Amino acid sequence: RTTWTDVVRHKLPRAFDALKAAAREVGSVQIQNVASVAGNLCNASPAADGVPALQVVDAEVELRSAKATRYLPLGGFILGNRRTALQPDEMVTAIRVPKRSAVGSSAFVKLGARRYLVISIAMAAARLVIEDGVVADAAIAVGACSAVARRLAGVEAALRGQPVTAALADAVLSAPIDELSPIADVRGSAEYREHAAREIVVRAVCAATSLGEGKVAA
Ligand SMILES: Cc1cc2nc3c(=O)[nH]c(=O)nc-3n(C[C@H](O)[C@H](O)[C@H](O)COP(=O)(O)OP(=O)(O)OC[C@H]3O[C@@H](n4cnc5c(N)ncnc54)[C@H](O)[C@@H]3O)c2cc1C
Repeated sequence: RTTWTDVVRHKLPRAFDALKAAAREVGSVQIQNVASVAGNLCNASPAADGVPALQVVDAEVELRSAKATRYLPLGGFILGNRRTALQPDEMVTAIRVPKRSAVGSSAFVKLGARRYLVISIAMAAARLVIEDGVVADAAIAVGACSAVARRLAGVEAALRGQPVTAALADAVLSAPIDELSPIADVRGSAEYREHAAREIVVRAVCAATSLGEGKVAA
């Protein structure tokens, strides 16, 4: 029953800054006050703002029925557009984040056709672990550019081992991205989404490393 407003108000490690930023982008303040994080996952919308931010901290869901409790990684829980692995007798009773993934700093960037109360055209979450000025680990996810938000393995690999300089943007821009399969709809063409996705990943990476701001003007 944790709402987006609960997430915003709770003191959390910097690895959850992306989730907090996503929380502030879900609909309006009125929506954030009543809408739950679990409901965002169960909805299984490709444009669910909470999913990329939870993917970059390797979140898993706890599913309970009267008879049993089981755990699934997000990738095993959200199966497609509006499709989950939830059984009719089950509820999501918790979202768990492993301690090893609750480290580093993170950021979330949402691109919409206007600044407020808008369904995402694309959104990106980035979590970086920086040691001695070098990217020791990177977790990058993009939503609304595939049926289910996806981690970008090629971008993550390209970032690992890079010194934290403005050249991180070039590493993202030249990395292979095979995971996305954007659709064309009233919010944007497939080509636009693909281009925009790469750009907002750059902005999220820069924001997570304090190299830049994560906001995108509509
Ligand atoms: C005006 C408006 C604007 C919105 N804008 C955004 C937006 O910008 N970004 C975004 O991501 N979403 C947006 N949403 C969608 C939605 O409000 C959010 O995704 C929200 O987080 C869903 O949570 P909820 O608790 O309201 O779920 P509900 O809508 O109540 O539930 C969604 C589905 O999940 C099931 N469910 C809910 N909780 C559980 C549980 N614990 N276990 C099992 N099943 C469960 C419900 O039965 C239902 O089928 C918007 C909605 C509205 C009405």
